[in-house]
Amino acid sequence: MPAPGGDTIDPLSAYTCPICFCPPTYATLTPCGHVCCGECIFTAVKTSLARTMGMMPREANLARCPVCRATIPGWDGKGGGVIGLKPRTVLSL
Ligand SMILES: [Zn+2]
Ligand SMILES: [Zn+2]
Repeated sequence: MPAPGGDTIDPLSAYTCPICFCPPTYATLTPCGHVCCGECIFTAVKTSLARTMGMMPREANLARCPVCRATIPGWDGKGGGVIGLKPRTVLSL
């Protein structure tokens, strides 16, 4: 039986990854303030970078937030440019 209002929910666990629509696994924060799963954001950025590479090679090193398309300065595909809220060895240098 859910409590009316449900205001005891922890904001992070109540958050839904905008990519897979599940509570974020290894939540990762982008500079623009979006929280996604570490795996989701890395996969999404990698995919869009590969696509950009085919169309606009000059912008292929410009990682963008998969949610709002803001650039992610310092992205290196290994955890650079984003903040892991739950650090994981794979995502840190
Ligand atoms: Zn996700
Ligand atoms: Zn964003």
